Amino acid sequence: VKNISILPTSVFFGEEAYQQLHIFYHKRYLSNIFILVDSNTREHCLPYLHGRVTFLRKAKIVEVPYGEKEKNIQNCIKIWKEFEKQNSDRKSLLINLGGGVVSDMGGFSASVFKRGISFLNIPTTLLSMVDASIGGKTGIDFNGIKNEIGLFKEAELVLIDLNYLKTLGKRELKSGMAEIFKYGLVADSSFWKEINILSNNLIGRSFIERSIFLKTRMVRIDPKEKFGSRKILNFGHTIGHAIETFFIDRHSPISHGEAIAFGIICESWISWKINCLTEKQYDEISKNISNTYPIKEIDQKTTETLLSFMRNDKKNEVGKICFSLLRTIGDCYYDKKVGDVIIQESLEQLKKFIKNN
Ligand SMILES: [Zn+2]
Repeated sequence: VKNISILPTSVFFGEEAYQQLHIFYHKRYLSNIFILVDSNTREHCLPYLHGRVTFLRKAKIVEVPYGEKEKNIQNCIKIWKEFEKQNSDRKSLLINLGGGVVSDMGGFSASVFKRGISFLNIPTTLLSMVDASIGGKTGIDFNGIKNEIGLFKEAELVLIDLNYLKTLGKRELKSGMAEIFKYGLVADSSFWKEINILSNNLIGRSFIERSIFLKTRMVRIDPKEKFGSRKILNFGHTIGHAIETFFIDRHSPISHGEAIAFGIICESWISWKINCLTEKQYDEISKNISNTYPIKEIDQKTTETLLSFMRNDKKNEVGKICFSLLRTIGDCYYDKKVGDVIIQESLEQLKKFIKNN
């Protein structure tokens, strides 16, 4: 099977993406076009987009500051005010040019403005190409909780141009790799093997296409996370999100991918301890992930805070912390309740990777 035939119909790469954008523009009789950028993508990506697509030079630019901390209601209000100022209507279009923060917040803002205007995603980070811009989750953080407010709404088009990856630093590229590792672990053991052989070259188109394919396959079965199968995408994220939330308010915030790397190691350890994964598989996973990401020590006090974040996670039933765990490499199940003690132990065992780094 050729990869291209199994991509969702809204996702396009390279030259074909720009052709689709032109078709969209000519078919829709748009009243006005907005491009949502952050301070980084305005500087590094917008000039390139303007160079590629001349009709976008007259689009209204809406800029928000860079960073996960900015995924908040204040910036949505800023976006809505811009929409109002230009007398936007249902024929308006928002193009999200950026990473996950821009596409999550832009998708949400567009979806609720006048009960919904169209939006497109042009992901500029590896993370948003393989994850955030695909699958229809939009939203913002609220009251210290990640993605607390939001809705399911797919972008009408997702346009992937690998040239944007050249604007990224190494740390940002690595952030996206964590999700690629995750796709292999939860759904495709041969993909996991290939990733580990080629881990310095993950940014090729075929890796991105395979990741999108694997994600889309799970999302299609369970688009709104109602039945459960979409939950396997949360592997690494129960602990990972808590760690990400914790560090957002510190002086050294860590990237989503770094947080998920912690989560993958801890949740693989839990998978081993409750007799699913073998020790050998756990060793293989933790070695590969800790070689790619810096691991920080989590002290006892921090562990308590992380547990309280996990209890607040909307993926849980009241009072119980639920995990998606590996049955083996390439197979994952979900809704497994895990006690506090084993979660604490999984965080403690991170220590051994700090010495290795
Ligand atoms: Zn993620």
